[in-house]
Amino acid sequence: MAGTLGGTFQEPLKAPAKALNNAKLCVEVGTTGDKGMSDETAGYDSNNIFARILRGEIPSTRVYEDDAVVAFMDVMPQAPGHTLVVPRAPSRNLLDADPAVLARGIAVVQRIAVAVKRAFAADGVTVIQFNEAAAGQTVFHLHFHVIPRFDGVALKPHTGGMERPEVLQANAEKIRKALASAGK
Ligand code: AMP
Repeated sequence: MAGTLGGTFQEPLKAPAKALNNAKLCVEVGTTGDKGMSDETAGYDSNNIFARILRGEIPSTRVYEDDAVVAFMDVMPQAPGHTLVVPRAPSRNLLDADPAVLARGIAVVQRIAVAVKRAFAADGVTVIQFNEAAAGQTVFHLHFHVIPRFDGVALKPHTGGMERPEVLQANAEKIRKALASAGK
């Protein structure tokens, strides 16, 4: 089941320009274009941006990882503390995922949701998961959005503005602390 806390934490993004390029990349490599299949239904592309983050080829601001799941900060947060929970196993989204992978993933979603609520003294937490472009998915590797919410405060747009790396890092540190103190 879910691994212990205190896994390796990755360094923050080094420069906003780099982060911006990475974010653009997700649009550019999100589909495979397999013959006979539309972009929306094409198979898994092992070079999608999250696969590259999981392989360590692209930086991310990680708050948690175990043998099956990684959680890192969304670079275009819809609210402070917006975190992505990403199973390591390759699947486009929920529709083609192994149920065992979903089970591991949702267990981490719960841990992160509890942690972000505590870390930001939030009133609630929104969990979102998109399946295919028609539903709003932009990166085609299974992931869950975990977003702290406050009474009367609307979410910023999905894939809106880039956040500064130092802000992402500061927010990540709050979440790491909340994870570390969970259960104490
Ligand atoms: P979705 O539209 O559900 O596929 O969500 C993809 C999310 O990934 C969006 O909220 C983006 O802001 C976020 N994103 C894109 N590129 C990166 C990246 N390099 N690091 C972290 N988050 C990213």
